[in-house]
Amino acid sequence: EAKSQGRNRQIVFEDGMDQAAQLRRALELDLRGALGKGELCLHYQPLVQIDSGETLGYEALIRWEHPERGVVMPDTFIPIAEESGMIIPIGEWVIRQAIDDLTQWPDNMTVSINLSPVQMRSPSLITTLVQGLAATGVEPKRVCLEITENVLMQDSDANMATLHKLHEIGVQIALDDFGTGYSSLNYLRSFPFDKIKIDRCFVDEIDTREDCQAIVRSVVDLARSLGMTTTAEGVERDDQVEHLRREGCSEVQGYLFSKAVPQDQLTDLRKPVHSHAQRL
Ligand code: C2E
Ligand code: MG
Ligand code: MG
Ligand code: MG
Repeated sequence: EAKSQGRNRQIVFEDGMDQAAQLRRALELDLRGALGKGELCLHYQPLVQIDSGETLGYEALIRWEHPERGVVMPDTFIPIAEESGMIIPIGEWVIRQAIDDLTQWPDNMTVSINLSPVQMRSPSLITTLVQGLAATGVEPKRVCLEITENVLMQDSDANMATLHKLHEIGVQIALDDFGTGYSSLNYLRSFPFDKIKIDRCFVDEIDTREDCQAIVRSVVDLARSLGMTTTAEGVERDDQVEHLRREGCSEVQGYLFSKAVPQDQLTDLRKPVHSHAQRL
């Protein structure tokens, strides 16, 4: 009895791994089965037009419903998926699922999909996207792919070629978390992004800090002169919206409007349902 406990303990505290490394290892093992067991799901957060208050579309944000640990957030498991290569099948599933879900939404709405830099180097990215669009008949411009600045820094010739191929397909490309990476403004010149998403850190205190206002104003002006739109991320208060409107930002996203929720809880989907029409 004592002996078997001791042995168990040895297995758990393998090779002096620290607790964080052990958790990571456990999650990595569980993640291998997660997709097949249907434990991954997409939640959606609205992107709202600042002037009209209209929902333009939704960003897909992945969640892992772990049977024992509860909901695991992407900041915890996406890095593990990237290091283990599992981000490729997971990312393909996200693309297919998000495009499928989009077919349930009004025809003018868009879906935004986050791409990992690892996916950018995968030859299956383009085929998954093309097949997803072809299978559903969804117009490519209704899909927006979000990439971060580090995509432009790593392996930039190959990634730039991929970005151009994606643009040829007709999907939109957004630069996510703008202002947080080590990128230079030069990157904005290197690719015709459709949209810049201004990171939450500049939006957080825009209602109280002049330096944040100045930065947002500059990014909005720059985006506009390059023919790109801007989305402010992490908007939580009405006062922030007022400042963002004043600075000319076109779209807002954040808890003020909604956190990310499962598709069946989206309230702005007013596509007429056949059964309703019959009842009238
Ligand atoms: P992101 O793409 O920049 O997404 C925005 C994150 O900010 C989301 O966190 C969202 O829930 C959160 N957020 C939105 N509004 C507010 C707000 O008003 N206040 C605050 N404090 N936070 C807000 P989440 O869902 O935990 O996702 C974190 C990151 O994980 C995402 O950042 C994205 O980089 C990555 N991610 C999410 N889904 C996927 C996916 O399907 N594939 C890949 N490769 N990455 C994903
Ligand atoms: Mg994003
Ligand atoms: Mg972001
Ligand atoms: Mg982010």
